[in-house]
Amino acid sequence: KAKELGRNGFQFYSNTLNNYLEEKSAFESRLKNAIKNGELELYYQPQLEAAKQHLVGVEALVRWNDPKTGLVLAHDFIDVAEKTDFILAIDDWVLNNACQQAVKWQKAGLSHLKVTINISKRQLDDDSIITNIANALHTSGLNAECLELDINENTLSQPSDKTLALLKELKDLGIKLAIDEFGVGFSSLNHLRKVDIDSLKLNQNLLENITTDVCEAAITKAIIDIAKTLELTIIAGGIERQEQLTWLQQHGGHLFQGYLFSKPLPVREIEDYFIKTTKNFAR
Ligand code: C2E
Repeated sequence: KAKELGRNGFQFYSNTLNNYLEEKSAFESRLKNAIKNGELELYYQPQLEAAKQHLVGVEALVRWNDPKTGLVLAHDFIDVAEKTDFILAIDDWVLNNACQQAVKWQKAGLSHLKVTINISKRQLDDDSIITNIANALHTSGLNAECLELDINENTLSQPSDKTLALLKELKDLGIKLAIDEFGVGFSSLNHLRKVDIDSLKLNQNLLENITTDVCEAAITKAIIDIAKTLELTIIAGGIERQEQLTWLQQHGGHLFQGYLFSKPLPVREIEDYFIKTTKNFAR
């Protein structure tokens, strides 16, 4: 095909590649200025308890208001940021903002509200994480047990002794640890014994066809059994349909999160959600 296109074909591919590389580098340099320009924003998604479906916490998910392309989801820029040290600045910004916001909401009536933030692999390799978290708790006044860190399962696939020691130090601060996207690789099963984890977050893909796919259901049941034996809280993310919720309620899920209840929302809109769904919140 390329031969048929001849020189013009080469020119086409070369231009496309150049455009792609130029766009990628422009995207990265705009992203590097995002914090300085005040373009990052936290969205929050509620987490509900199983039986009465009352609010227990929120997960903070970062968004970038890119002046060129508009709102960018974490899914579309965190990977790029993770390839540079810039992820550390984003994570620190998220940590401080989420802690401060949670304290404001606790003072406005949601007294035990928990806030969950995502921790990148880079952040877990960075020695300053303990100091950063201790400082964020101190500055905001947030009680350590109201902060939960979501650690991606593959971060724990081959944890070094240093990472394990660091996780222990994090636990000693009093914060909660959750393994996110659990069920993707089972890689962390063995490490669950070594790390004092509080919760397992079941992966959205694993729960997609839980009511119809026998295999998915069997795997999920097995994971729930392990989590129960280890006395871990089971958090099910990405719940979109009532039948998924019913299945998980019947099989022992504890906390739920997903579009069925609410999409991640900016501060003003999640406050509207609090007003609608809880009695004790006043803006
Ligand atoms: P995650 O922690 O697994 O977050 C869940 C993702 O699924 C979020 O995408 C959320 O918007 C989306 N989601 C939530 N409920 C549903 C649902 O019911 N259905 C569907 N289809 N999707 C749902 P988002 O915000 O783009 O985040 C993607 C990933 O980026 C996150 O996965 C997390 O690993 C990472 N991330 C997000 N915020 C941060 C952050 O502040 N720092 C770091 N380091 N990573 C972050």
